[in-house]
Amino acid sequence: MSVRRNAFSNWFEPVSEVLARRTGDNGPAYTFVDYLDDANGVKRTITWSELDSRARAIAARLAEVSAPGERVALLCPQNLDYVAGFFGALYAGMIAVPLHAPEAGSHPDRLVGALADCDPEVWLTSGPAVQGVRDLLDQYPIPRPKELLAVDCLAERDFEPVQAYPDQPAYLQYTSGSTRKPAGAVITHGALTANVGQAQVAFGADVNTTCVGWLPLFHDMGLVNLLALPAALGCHSVFTTPFAFVRKPVRWLKMLAEYPDAISAAPNFAFDYAAAALSGTDASGLDLSRVKVIINGSEPIRAATIENFLAVTKPLGFRATAHRPSYGLAEATVFVSTTSPGAAPKATTFDRTRLGPGERAVMVDDDADRAVKLVSVGWAVGQDLRIVVDGRVVPDGIVGEIWIHGPNVADGYWRQPERTAEAFDGRLHNGTPEAGWLRTGDLGVIHSDELYVAGRLKDLIIVDGTNHYPQDIEATVQQAHPAIRRDRLAVFSIERDGREGPVVVAEYSARVTMHDELADEIGRLVRAAVARRHALRLLDFVMVPPGKVARTSSGKIARSATRRRYLDGELR
Ligand code: ATP
Ligand code: MG
Repeated sequence: MSVRRNAFSNWFEPVSEVLARRTGDNGPAYTFVDYLDDANGVKRTITWSELDSRARAIAARLAEVSAPGERVALLCPQNLDYVAGFFGALYAGMIAVPLHAPEAGSHPDRLVGALADCDPEVWLTSGPAVQGVRDLLDQYPIPRPKELLAVDCLAERDFEPVQAYPDQPAYLQYTSGSTRKPAGAVITHGALTANVGQAQVAFGADVNTTCVGWLPLFHDMGLVNLLALPAALGCHSVFTTPFAFVRKPVRWLKMLAEYPDAISAAPNFAFDYAAAALSGTDASGLDLSRVKVIINGSEPIRAATIENFLAVTKPLGFRATAHRPSYGLAEATVFVSTTSPGAAPKATTFDRTRLGPGERAVMVDDDADRAVKLVSVGWAVGQDLRIVVDGRVVPDGIVGEIWIHGPNVADGYWRQPERTAEAFDGRLHNGTPEAGWLRTGDLGVIHSDELYVAGRLKDLIIVDGTNHYPQDIEATVQQAHPAIRRDRLAVFSIERDGREGPVVVAEYSARVTMHDELADEIGRLVRAAVARRHALRLLDFVMVPPGKVARTSSGKIARSATRRRYLDGELR
């Protein structure tokens, strides 16, 4: 008999226990669409019952080699093995560490950093990834696990899942590493259950929903949307890999069209990719009218991206109200805020020089010199959100740091008491609760009862007392010349001869043969554009070959890492 419940009634129930009750349910649970050997995609599906059995077999083996509370790293390729490994770890009462299989040809910085940080006793991998994982062990100074297990060759065995409690860690969610070495946010079973419930309410997900996407499963948004939410709700999850999406972005839209009531999530850049890919293909026949929700989150949202995406997908029936600009972060499990159901995305134009902490945000005309269009991310669901300056909640309209308090907030960073105290114990002088607020490090403003994210506190460039957000300058720079690669540039500030100023490092497009005169010409145009639009003088402008601007594994610009490379003289 199939046991399906609404996650709302499971509010305090561990996701793994909800899954364990599905023994005997032969409905489709997870479908992995494999594009590796077949460009049309081969679908591999696991039922709830099969998944439950696989998770039990993995947990049985884990129980022999390790113990509840120990860390177990997930180094499986992004496919059904990953899903089974994750739930196997939870069934065993261990702390899962969702990572990824090493990729040939790319430096495993993130992997090595995370493994060294949390020192897992067991590593899980599978199939063709086993050799890459062995090589990783041989080539890098990482603590050796007691056991390396391939989850795809375990015989079926029964195991009674270890009882999980709300305040016990379920997994470590490493942050993206946009501003620092990724930190492991400790996500408890209670936080996961709460966040899944909040997302369910916010997006109207239920058992008939299909969670669809390609986001990395080790990334907070991918993990909750594609892995955890489906298990909590008993709804079908259909996923592929980030690589399959980047190769052919239209695949994502086809998946969205194929499954009813699809809920998906992607960062802003993906909407640009998908829109560009659509304009080059015959998309007639693609029906996007049944798409329930596409969450746009995890990086700054551009109004122009949304306008373009909506224009291109309107003839395919996509409803503007299904596009849901949202805000979240690993320290809050992932999901924090989103627009109201039934509301189309909304942008408001502000004076971008008046968006520093403590300033009153000022609305201006779209064509004003200092205009920046910010997209509303609606309001927090099931958690408290405040805008704070110097420990005081500020009135609506004033810019400040976004603080969060709720059952979905992580239990700190793995074994980093100082950073944990700094980020997770924000104290309010004029509000309740007085302590325990998550300081997000993001600046925002509440305008007409909606949250607008202005940018990261750490990335702010302050010159002569004026605040500049790097993403605004980057937008100006990439429009200055077509040879500059879109979204592959970083602006950061350095100090030189006693004064602070911005430096731009930009990749040139792979189609361009760079030479001195061209670089000079681009440099002149860029400097002029930045001076005109931002009244700023660049301290340096550097063109670099494709791939040289540091990015996170989820594709975000890592400005501080690029800055470090620049200061180390690697980017001249
Ligand atoms: P790290 O913390 O390691 O530097 P990260 O902050 O990028 O990396 P995540 O937790 O994955 O790691 O990302 C959350 C961050 O992404 C938020 O703190 C915010 O800066 C940014 N972000 C998420 N959603 C939005 C949004 N809608 N608009 C602007 N920024 C967003
Ligand atoms: Mg962060």
